[in-house]
Amino acid sequence: MFKKTVTVFLAMLLIFSSTGLFSANVTHAAESKSSKVVYLTFDDGPNQYTPKILDILKRKKAHATFFMIEGNIKQNPKMVKRIISEGNYPALHSVSHNVQKLYRGSSNNVAIEMEKTRQTLLRVSGFNSKLTRAPYGSKPYMKKPLRDALAKKGFKMWDWDIDTLDWKYNRTQPRVITSRVKSGLKGKKGPIVILFHDSRGTAQQLPIIIDYLKKNGYKLEVYNPKHHIVKNFWNDRRF
Ligand SMILES: [Zn+2]
Repeated sequence: MFKKTVTVFLAMLLIFSSTGLFSANVTHAAESKSSKVVYLTFDDGPNQYTPKILDILKRKKAHATFFMIEGNIKQNPKMVKRIISEGNYPALHSVSHNVQKLYRGSSNNVAIEMEKTRQTLLRVSGFNSKLTRAPYGSKPYMKKPLRDALAKKGFKMWDWDIDTLDWKYNRTQPRVITSRVKSGLKGKKGPIVILFHDSRGTAQQLPIIIDYLKKNGYKLEVYNPKHHIVKNFWNDRRF
């Protein structure tokens, strides 16, 4: 009887510990999987560099999210349509891109400019996008009253995790863009949003960056409103 109890006890111990180990492994695998998701995002286009960026994305079987300025959408309707038809996500980046106009006047100004951009995108492409990015980032500019106005209209708002500073380096030291991606990834967990701009040096470095990400096990995702993630500097859950 005693021997049997010991055997049962040992068997149970074995089952529990192995289940424990199993679930620990599963959790770990799930964590490392989600921490290996990267979103490439491109601001301020579409412009003369956008077709090259789209060519590279197509060639590398990757997709990106494009935060576009209203005037550029109007000027480049074909590029906007191409962005969408090739599986990339079109998003909104204001009309003026101007700190004074957006952030220093009425609290409604950002919401008004994003709404105008949304309507232009819809008219040009038939695509209704609610994802926005505040020019120069939401902190410190998007204080609560501005966020309230934007949230009231049902918009989402994304910032980023890695700033490549490509606006600064793309002409003189484009390789810095790649090195900033590499160093920015270190120690970061969860879905990682990388900020780029539609620019010459960025287009030049993009194949190298995509190859590096893939080689290191990162999965390149494109924004999907059905699987929205919160990614703003205020950690405002409404966005
Ligand atoms: Zn911008």
